[in-house]
Amino acid sequence: MVGKVIGRDFDVVVVGAGVAGITAAIAAAGEGASVAVVTRGRLGNSGSSFCHLSRGWGISAATGVQDPADSPSEHLRDILDAAQGMSIPRLAEVLADEAPARLSDLAGMGVPLTPVRGCHCFNRRERSVRAFDVNMTRQVLADAVRSRRIHIIEESTVLSLLASSGRCAGVRVLEKQSDSAYDISSGAVVLASGGGTGLFSFNLGDPCNIGYSHYLALLSGATLTNMEFVQFAFGIAWPVPGALFAEELFSLRPVLTNGLGEDVTSKHFSADQYAKLCALRATHAPYTCACPSSAIDRAIYGEIANGRASRHGGVSLRIAPATGGEPPKSGLGEWLDWLRGMGADLSTGDVEIAPFAQAFNGGIVIDEHGRTSVQGLYACGEAAAGPHGADRVGGNMIASALVFGTRAGRNSARYAAETWRAAKGGQGAAVAHYAPAGDGTPTEARHLGRLRSIMFKACSLVRDEDGLQQAIGEIDSLTRDGVTQSNSSCRGITPACDAVCGAADSARASMDLHVALTVSKVILSSALLRRESRGSHFRRDFPQPDAAYGGRIEVRMDPSGNLTYTAPWLGR
Ligand SMILES: Cc1cc2nc3c(=O)[nH]c(=O)nc-3n(C[C@H](O)[C@H](O)[C@H](O)COP(=O)(O)OP(=O)(O)OC[C@H]3O[C@@H](n4cnc5c(N)ncnc54)[C@H](O)[C@@H]3O)c2cc1C
Repeated sequence: MVGKVIGRDFDVVVVGAGVAGITAAIAAAGEGASVAVVTRGRLGNSGSSFCHLSRGWGISAATGVQDPADSPSEHLRDILDAAQGMSIPRLAEVLADEAPARLSDLAGMGVPLTPVRGCHCFNRRERSVRAFDVNMTRQVLADAVRSRRIHIIEESTVLSLLASSGRCAGVRVLEKQSDSAYDISSGAVVLASGGGTGLFSFNLGDPCNIGYSHYLALLSGATLTNMEFVQFAFGIAWPVPGALFAEELFSLRPVLTNGLGEDVTSKHFSADQYAKLCALRATHAPYTCACPSSAIDRAIYGEIANGRASRHGGVSLRIAPATGGEPPKSGLGEWLDWLRGMGADLSTGDVEIAPFAQAFNGGIVIDEHGRTSVQGLYACGEAAAGPHGADRVGGNMIASALVFGTRAGRNSARYAAETWRAAKGGQGAAVAHYAPAGDGTPTEARHLGRLRSIMFKACSLVRDEDGLQQAIGEIDSLTRDGVTQSNSSCRGITPACDAVCGAADSARASMDLHVALTVSKVILSSALLRRESRGSHFRRDFPQPDAAYGGRIEVRMDPSGNLTYTAPWLGR
């Protein structure tokens, strides 16, 4: 049963409490709006923004502090260059222009920021600033939310969006603890619910980020784009699973060994080749097939995907004392100490690394105001697409979360004030969007694990037609086994929807699986359509970029629940 209805409505409901959600909520409250934030986790402790092994944020903004010759137009050039034709240029422009001001806002709130020196990502201009003190950042942002009387709803999952008179009119929420679901009406909704890195067996962010943003947007009629561009970076598979690996360590030419005890580097490269690739690989993260050093990532992926992983699923890495590589940069000392403190000693070979899903470049299409194509529905942060493209410049995710979080928050509040608050009472009763039900059986956790390994194998660093087709077949069969679909023409509050909300844990697990399967299929299908290699997307069967695929794929869901894909080369 749908249980309690929260005792009040809000001008703006923000879904997600990562950096984008917090920024949007603060901006909306600054416009005088009443604001609620709903998060699956806890304030200051959920999402990729605040993942437990984070070592702080790098934020890109052309402040000119490190390099007086830098400017927003230089930043824009770098974004567009990395995006390889796949960004929405106006959004990239807004990002480059407004990042310095948003960085000042962050500093003004009390987040300590340190300009990074001696770190040229791909020889670009130095413009990265680091928020090193993760705990301080959490604290400052959480306090900023609390002090503005923003209503926080923690450990709760938004299951669907409400619609009224053709606009987004609120959310349906499932509380984890109390086994109850309820609706919150609002003048506008901001989706800041992150990406979908939790769909891959190796993921660096919050494993709960399994694509709810994309699912909720599709269901409401909004458009997704660039879903095939998922960025991967090296992470530690053992002994600190999920910690980011510092790519600068490749300057030391690490020795890599697979589960059979084979030397992975000599198996794939000559010594000279490996030295050159390592020098390059040390200069950037995440992975991009635009750089020859991606051969290292693919060699490691190949060992893991083909069953030759080391004991804990990764590839063993050791820094030999006399590899002849460059000495590590000074900034690494702190990281190495931290790692040692966690029990990871790089000189012993007991550390395993793997390519981990780090962030989604694609997501919900927004305009420069943070609006989706659905009235009253806004999106920002990793949930939204457009500022980035086939590749993303490091530090630009947090920057875009700040820039578009602010815009989405402000504009959603203004929209709510102009259209909803003014006409309150005149609108029809809210009705829930269609939300298919799962059967809630305990087998579903196993299914989610299976789905994650399918996605890692078929749709991470190396993809091809056969693997993607096979993965789609496996996803389809998991869908048949794992989820009992409700009547697809249902668009209201139905017994089927109520069943989703019946028992919190099993209902949430069931819904999670349904969301994960739907969004995985969108990613796989988009990757299948892009028969070329570009940015974070590498096709073994089409290893080069191809100008014929120079446009973006867009995805929509029709009212019957069917997905449609459009792209310039498809003629639709
Ligand atoms: C290890 C790591 C290091 C990174 N380093 C950098 C860096 O240095 N610089 C950079 O620019 N980027 C970096 N990134 C990427 C960047 O951190 C993320 O893209 C960014 O933090 C995303 O912020 P967000 O607020 O959009 O989403 P998130 O921080 O992921 O927050 C999503 C929120 O939505 C909630 N949520 C999800 N689904 C639901 C639902 N159905 N109902 C309710 N709530 C929901 C979650 O609980 C969470 O609160 C890194 C990523 C990782 C994983």
